[in-house]
Amino acid sequence: MYSPTFLADSRSNSQRAPISNLSSKQRVAYFHNKDVGAFHFGPQHPMKPERLTLTNDLVLGYRLHEKMDVFCPPRATDEELMEFHQASYINFLKKITPENAKLFPVEDFNRFNINEDCPIFAGLYDYCQLYAGASVAAAERLASGASDICINWSGGLHHAKQFEASGFCFVNDIVLAIQHLLRLASVSRYVLIVLYVDIDIHHGDGVQEAFYLTDRVMTVSFHKYDNGNYFPGTGDFEEIGTGFGKYFSLNVPLKDGMDDESYIVLFKDIITAVRDRYRPSAIVLQSGADSLGKDKLGGFNLSIKAHGECVRYIKSWQIPLLVLGGGGYMVQNVARCWAYETSILVDTEVPEELSPDRTNFYALFGPDYSLHPPLVGKVENQNTKSDLQKLAQQVLEHLKALEGAPSVQMQEIPTEKTKEAKNKDEELADSREDANADYRYRRRLIWHDNEYFDGENDHDRDDERQMMDDEF
Ligand SMILES: [Zn+2]
Repeated sequence: MYSPTFLADSRSNSQRAPISNLSSKQRVAYFHNKDVGAFHFGPQHPMKPERLTLTNDLVLGYRLHEKMDVFCPPRATDEELMEFHQASYINFLKKITPENAKLFPVEDFNRFNINEDCPIFAGLYDYCQLYAGASVAAAERLASGASDICINWSGGLHHAKQFEASGFCFVNDIVLAIQHLLRLASVSRYVLIVLYVDIDIHHGDGVQEAFYLTDRVMTVSFHKYDNGNYFPGTGDFEEIGTGFGKYFSLNVPLKDGMDDESYIVLFKDIITAVRDRYRPSAIVLQSGADSLGKDKLGGFNLSIKAHGECVRYIKSWQIPLLVLGGGGYMVQNVARCWAYETSILVDTEVPEELSPDRTNFYALFGPDYSLHPPLVGKVENQNTKSDLQKLAQQVLEHLKALEGAPSVQMQEIPTEKTKEAKNKDEELADSREDANADYRYRRRLIWHDNEYFDGENDHDRDDERQMMDDEF
């Protein structure tokens, strides 16, 4: 079942009927608000929004903006954020500041999972509104048909839950964007299936949880799992969805050290089978860059070219595509990766060499000054070929299990939730809140024991200082 190399794809579109009728030239829209890179989670926190400023700088340096429609998106409104999140949680995020935090009861911090991973920092709510607003605007544009591909590198924050922050994510822009796609598509009164694909090294738990009971969103996450010992501790193969959502969640749990070839072959085999089974009308791709080699929190060996190959492959299907960012904790590599993937999305080859006229932050890209630094070799690949073959086989069996189920493609859907559905949602939310409280403590242990900071070896603060000197 394995192709000899990921660059020679034996299952290419040339051997398949096209899924959509779009012309081969895809119209691309890029959503970026320059303010989103100016926030600081704290000097020692691994999440550094300045990676977004660096990414945009490279996009402009390579003149890729000339190949896209560029938008400065509006902030998401309170009401938009509350379309997924609980009002009390959003109001809390809106009101709290580093200065007034001590006035809030401790229960609020526990309830909403505010801690050193998800700290209160200056402008927190503004930051949430900016990245979520960009994803919502991108989803609206995609649904309008005005663009075939929409990009928001500031989004992709897949861990946030309805009631709580998690894993550096406060609001879940992905869920909001998918809700928009579904709502706008519902005008046609026929069910749209959105395929969500997650190549961040962490499990896309927040998105999976939000759509665990529905057959309108198929979530597929490729991630390091390590028998539940890697954050967030979920994403086992057995998590497949429930109720109407049974077989609409798919997880590909992996061990440390995935390399380019094994990752791409597995990715293409599985995602192609998913596409053929579910025939999605739109795709949301979370392109987290912490699956790259040498990431501070990750443990894979992927090169930027291999990561980009996942993007290129999905793009080649010519299905309306929303591309979002996600994790990524070596800021220069995140910027390289997402700038390179932008070039793929606009069908433009870019030189590997980074020269001072291509970036205002040239000094940060040494010593190689390349778009494709060597990232391979930090971690031995613990996934054997037979492990991966077995995994792919299991996945294909799950997909087969959907056979015989009634088609969901043409079901008529209600345009508004019934009272019964709303009550059911609330019951579900209560039960999830209990379950979340149970394993929240465990998740924190996983995070801190294994992969928080590099401690004495964390040189990123030097980079940060340099970047601040350059007046982000
Ligand atoms: Zn991640």
